[in-house]
Amino acid sequence: MFNKNFGDKKFKIAAFYSLGVIIAVLILNYMVVSMKTEQITYNKFLDLLSQKKISEVQVTQDRLTIIPKDNSGIGKKILYTGRISDLDLKNELKASGADITAPSSNDDPLINFLLTYVIPIGILLIAGRFLFGRIDKKLGSGVMSFGKNNAKVYAESETGVTFLDVAGQDEAKESLMEIVDFLHNQDKYIKIGARLPKGALLVGPPGTGKTLLAKAVAGEAKVPFFSMSGSNFVEMFVGMGASRVRDLFQQAQQKAPCIIFIDEIDAIGKSRDTAGMGGGNDEREQTLNQLLSEMDGFDSSVGVVILAATNRPEVLDKALLRPGRFDRRVIVDRPDLKGRENILIVHSKGVKLSSEVRLDKIAKATSGAVGADLANMINEAALFAVKNGREEICQGDLEEAVEVVIAGKEKKDKILSGPEKKSVAFHEVGHAIVAALLKHTDPVHKITIVPRTMGALGYTMQLPEEEKNLVSKEEMIDEITVLLGGRSAEEVEFNSISTGASNDIERATKMARNMVTIYGMTDKFDMMALESVESRYLDGRPVQTCSAETATLIDGETLSIIRTAHEKAKAILTKNHDLLIKIAGVLIEKETIMGDEFMEIVKESSAWKEKIEV
Ligand code: ADP
Ligand code: MG
Ligand code: ZN
Repeated sequence: MFNKNFGDKKFKIAAFYSLGVIIAVLILNYMVVSMKTEQITYNKFLDLLSQKKISEVQVTQDRLTIIPKDNSGIGKKILYTGRISDLDLKNELKASGADITAPSSNDDPLINFLLTYVIPIGILLIAGRFLFGRIDKKLGSGVMSFGKNNAKVYAESETGVTFLDVAGQDEAKESLMEIVDFLHNQDKYIKIGARLPKGALLVGPPGTGKTLLAKAVAGEAKVPFFSMSGSNFVEMFVGMGASRVRDLFQQAQQKAPCIIFIDEIDAIGKSRDTAGMGGGNDEREQTLNQLLSEMDGFDSSVGVVILAATNRPEVLDKALLRPGRFDRRVIVDRPDLKGRENILIVHSKGVKLSSEVRLDKIAKATSGAVGADLANMINEAALFAVKNGREEICQGDLEEAVEVVIAGKEKKDKILSGPEKKSVAFHEVGHAIVAALLKHTDPVHKITIVPRTMGALGYTMQLPEEEKNLVSKEEMIDEITVLLGGRSAEEVEFNSISTGASNDIERATKMARNMVTIYGMTDKFDMMALESVESRYLDGRPVQTCSAETATLIDGETLSIIRTAHEKAKAILTKNHDLLIKIAGVLIEKETIMGDEFMEIVKESSAWKEKIEV
């Protein structure tokens, strides 16, 4: 499993370590020695000699080491000086009464011995043992295996959390229901031979209730819940991450049916090729590899379901998302108005609310807030109430709590201000109305101004009635018109424009250009290929197969398609300004409108009758 150059690596690490230890010992030794020795000049030495302050002189090749007498006033220092070929020295030494010795150890021999041999070797041995223990562990064959004991898996026999504790998130709950059912009635699935997903990935911004949902799945299915957080892996010793994963799966399989939950999986599951600038993080990579092989290795029919959560799905290694691994994604997005109200209701169960409290009003004031924020608000409100000596939470407490929580978050997160909300609402309704009133478009499925994970402040979702493999010229033109409908609505209503349409513009332009260069949909160029399709996918940028003059003409054609579509969108919205205002009003109120509801309003309008007649 592990690649062969691991031996080299082991050697390198060991060598590096030993070198470090040796240097440290040398420095230590030097410091100890230099505290006790001092260099003096030869003259000073001769002075001391004549003053009879020297008890002993050691003569070596190039230096004289001088040990002063105890009563010399120099203290317990050892002096030294360079050796000069001084023929008289012997006699002078004799005359002064100092002993002359050949080199020998002058300190306490025991200390000297300890310092030079025992301690350094001891340090080396300890360091080596520690080091090799870790490396062996990493190789998965350690004699000094210590993975098992430290593998802290948080197992709860029953979480006690149910879907009732999770408010909003109906779509997420629905797709997790199936997993609950599988854990509950395995036989039913096994009998028919169904292969169930091994894992589901909960994706959504922080605080939206991903962890809570995972626990609720375990609670609903009444199975044990094993959880680990990806961020714990990162700070671990080398090799621990992988061994923990192994233990986790082992334990879980013994307790099946059960749920394994890996929170913040992005901490270990980061894409292997982008994350490792300059070498990469071996530890994380090994943990990830272990996780992948464990996921592949077990048989899902034993009833182990792996859930994972992340707020950064885009950084995950593709290998994690392959079929048979986390092949399901469950979106856990920010709650809409109704969702927020329900979350507030769930969390206010444990506190005393005054009867005048209107949670729906609080929900309205907190567009963009997530479950964790709302839970936090209820708690803050309770604290305010206590601070003001009240026995119940009143509306004022809640309002104050909203401000505290939102003010703390506003900079980081997208919580829309009033005017912004209005402008986003008109923009989205602009897309939707243009889509509804044009002929060759897909029906509007959902309009929302709940700020989303992926950076959009709102979106209008259209779903085709049936799968399409061919797109007609009319459909392309209408789609471009719908894309430009957002900005057009801003112009019609506010007579001003914002930066909110950048993505629409980019997509519309790309589409218009493709009509010209790839699909041969303009009269000017007829069916001439102006761009090679294959190379577009190879290096990601279009290769034009035409002259520079033609390129200028292409730009002109593209612009004319865009301009025509823009005028058309603006005309539709100007004509139906009342409808725009009406639906935008509903959207600001509700934040999300489903397609049916939207169409009901549209169908009452005169514009719809005209469309039908045309
Ligand atoms: P995430 O894992 O998505 O970051 P958590 O599940 O840890 O979020 O949520 C933190 C807390 O916020 C939860 O313990 C719960 O109290 C509250 N919370 C979040 N979302 C919801 C929700 N949909 N319903 C009820 N409470 C929620
Ligand atoms: Mg969480
Ligand atoms: Zn738009």
